[in-house]
Amino acid sequence: MTAKNYPEEIGPSTSLKVNPEYPRRIEKIFNLKLNRNQTLQIRRLIYEIKKTRKIDFNKIVQLLKRDLEGKDPQGKDKFRHIKNTLVSIRYPLTTPKINIDTRTIFLNELKLPDKKTYHPKKEFIPGKVIVEKEARNSYLLNNIRKNFKHSKIEYIDYASAFLKKFKLTPYNLKEPLLFIVKERWDFIKKCPCTKNHIGCGYWIFNLGFGCPFDCSYCYLQQYQNFPGIILPSNLEDFFTKFDTFFRKINKPVRIGSGEFCDSLALDHLTGYSSKLIDFFSGKKVLFELKTKSSQIENILNKEPAKNIIISWSLNPQSLIDSEEYAVSSLKERLKAAQRIEEKGFKVAFHFDPIIYSDGWKKEYKKLVELLYHKAKPPFAWISLGTLRFNRQLKPLMEKRFPKNEIVYGELFIGEDKKLRYPEFLRIEIYQNMVKWIREFDAKTPVYLCMESKKVWKDSLFEVNSAGQVEDLLIANNV
Ligand code: SF4
Repeated sequence: MTAKNYPEEIGPSTSLKVNPEYPRRIEKIFNLKLNRNQTLQIRRLIYEIKKTRKIDFNKIVQLLKRDLEGKDPQGKDKFRHIKNTLVSIRYPLTTPKINIDTRTIFLNELKLPDKKTYHPKKEFIPGKVIVEKEARNSYLLNNIRKNFKHSKIEYIDYASAFLKKFKLTPYNLKEPLLFIVKERWDFIKKCPCTKNHIGCGYWIFNLGFGCPFDCSYCYLQQYQNFPGIILPSNLEDFFTKFDTFFRKINKPVRIGSGEFCDSLALDHLTGYSSKLIDFFSGKKVLFELKTKSSQIENILNKEPAKNIIISWSLNPQSLIDSEEYAVSSLKERLKAAQRIEEKGFKVAFHFDPIIYSDGWKKEYKKLVELLYHKAKPPFAWISLGTLRFNRQLKPLMEKRFPKNEIVYGELFIGEDKKLRYPEFLRIEIYQNMVKWIREFDAKTPVYLCMESKKVWKDSLFEVNSAGQVEDLLIANNV
């Protein structure tokens, strides 16, 4: 795999400074007293306005004065008025469309990065390999030993013991540590989707936790309670557990290993793809290997089976450059998909997360065109999802990616408490994506990831339940 160079400029940035005196100046100019919470909100809003709108403080004051002209609100009302005006300046796309409920705005305390964060290099080389005693004779450890002759190996009873002496912070969670463990509990789980949204009945084959890639929007940054990457060595136990699970569930399902890590990023070390294909081929399930890499050599050595799907997450190269680090380029991913299709495997694609910008239409239309220029439809499926993340990820993104802009999109707390674009914008994005896809391809099932019934309906889909989505995707492939 070749990946683009890691951008040098990531790191604490002085351009993020916001004058801590701004709230004091607002107090003085508008003759009001802000409490601590109000001060934090005003500071955050001014910071984000300066960042997104490139408007300086004096101009903001002018706009506030204009809005207050002829009115004389007092006390709390004056603060509310000022805050509402700042909100309308901060969200220029949403303000004319809907009445923004200020409770859906997430104004976290402004804390700028105080340390340089660790970002993975394009080639994953563990500084240290930490091995649970029950995994010391595993084939996985032998492979790792062969590949990383210079990495230090440390044996411990249980990986969890490591955390007692390691202080996990946002700055070191991606450190190049590799844990080889014996998985004991979490073999297969249902994808939790998100509250009040339509799921797709997906199951997760939990083959690893942590990822050598480094996407700015990756939820693992907030979810991960370990540094580095955990790889289970007891694949046979996963297969036994799956057989029991499958006997019990007794119906075709979709299952994949790319939820808590990338399915193929470390395939040169694990060789898992070959073993998974051997195990799942011919079973009444759809097994998906989902990736942002181009590591397909092991797969190319296998015979294709119609229930094995290899899928790629796609984004325009400009977004890969700014948001997805240490991954394969768009060109490399599409080339890999082409070779996999030529070999006879089914492929699928995920446009997820779709990230809004002024030029999004041009970028994503071009991306859809490029996909259909390189790969041959119909595909097993295409999923669409717009940028969304838990609130807790926002301060982490600010710490780990101080120059990141996507965190300052027009994102509001949704029904599932995640920050998302407003409904009207998501619908517009999906409608356009579906239109562009359908210009090339009438057959590939397209579905939405983590969306509400209303958004499904208004985006031209007639789907009412998770069961219907699951049926649609399975019926087409098994
Ligand atoms: S490839 Fe997926 S799992 Fe890996 S960092 Fe990116 S979003 Fe996270």
